[in-house]
Amino acid sequence: MPDRTIYLDHAATTALDARVLDAMLPYFTTEYGNASSIYTLGRHAMQALDSAREQVADILGCRPTEVTFTGCGSESDNLAIKGMAFASQKKGDHLITSPIEHHAVLHTCQYLERFGFKTTYVPVDQYGRVDPDDIGRAITDQTVLVSIMYANNEVGTIEPISEIGRICRAKKIPFHVDAVQAAGSLPLDVVELNADLLSLSAHKFYGPKGIGILYARQGMRLLPQLQGGSQERGKRAGTENVAGIVGAATALRLAYEDLPRVMPRVTTFRDRLIGGLLEIPGSQLTGHPIERLPNNASFVFEGVEGESILLNLDLLGFAASTGSACTSGSVDPSHVLLAMHVPVELAHGSLRLTLGKDNTDEDVTTLLDVLPGIIEKLRQLR
Ligand code: PLP
Repeated sequence: MPDRTIYLDHAATTALDARVLDAMLPYFTTEYGNASSIYTLGRHAMQALDSAREQVADILGCRPTEVTFTGCGSESDNLAIKGMAFASQKKGDHLITSPIEHHAVLHTCQYLERFGFKTTYVPVDQYGRVDPDDIGRAITDQTVLVSIMYANNEVGTIEPISEIGRICRAKKIPFHVDAVQAAGSLPLDVVELNADLLSLSAHKFYGPKGIGILYARQGMRLLPQLQGGSQERGKRAGTENVAGIVGAATALRLAYEDLPRVMPRVTTFRDRLIGGLLEIPGSQLTGHPIERLPNNASFVFEGVEGESILLNLDLLGFAASTGSACTSGSVDPSHVLLAMHVPVELAHGSLRLTLGKDNTDEDVTTLLDVLPGIIEKLRQLR
């Protein structure tokens, strides 16, 4: 057993950055005030929230008042979609999304279908890309929201967000972007992206788990999904998680400060993984060959089960995934791969390797050394 985990699952979650922990610590100990309290300790907490909101707004290119902190990325997706749908019920009952979205979006649309909403799932091509013109064609006079992810969590394909946003803007349809996987890798300027609503999750960019961010452009009317106090300008009740929010904002700022240094390295590692693993007979890259996240190398291998690859890698100290963390452990093939028309048998043999800022050249070399042997051994066992 190796003496350390070689972590290749950064799309599932990331380790908290030590600088982020340092920024958070005072809010667990000395600065424990409730941001709603009017005395000094409370005002300190409120100042920390204000400063966090400004840091996030700076990265998103928006106003601080357009930033809402939530309890996770899933909650941000839920608030954007349910909040917009329920607030627009008088206008229409039609939603548009894609079949490769995260379950935080897909299950939310399915939930809304119980209340009479109808969803159009715009197809994706073999690389997992949505055609913006398909979105334009799907919009009707009943459409109240379009929700498309910035980058896919399983195969890393980047969607043509700015173009989709332009089409939605021209037709005056609110556009939500699940940017949970893109954050920390791709530009997040909401003006450039033509996004009206955008969701983030801090634990994907070396921040704490359990903190989400929702950008909602001024004028977007959302029906709150949590009733209670008037925190977050009435959009999200509940005493604010000050330490978590400070951590989320610090992590986002640092991720973009570090980007010019980290991304070229990560991209080189990704391309080494792709080049090396495509030499294995019966392997295929999944997702777009070029328009993909800089840290995502995902594959399918003929004649093997993704779960067996994971278990064998785990024995050697590697952490990887067959697809989204949320579906790992279930035997159903990935809905993303099926929507991309990957045959079911092949979809069972999927492997997702996602790199991060602390991976080394040696991590990549070690993986490339062991994986071909694992695949060969598993094929012989069948
Ligand atoms: N959206 C995407 C694309 C994701 O990858 C994830 C998490 O994996 C989420 C939403 C949900 O985020 P959270 O885990 O913070 O609820």
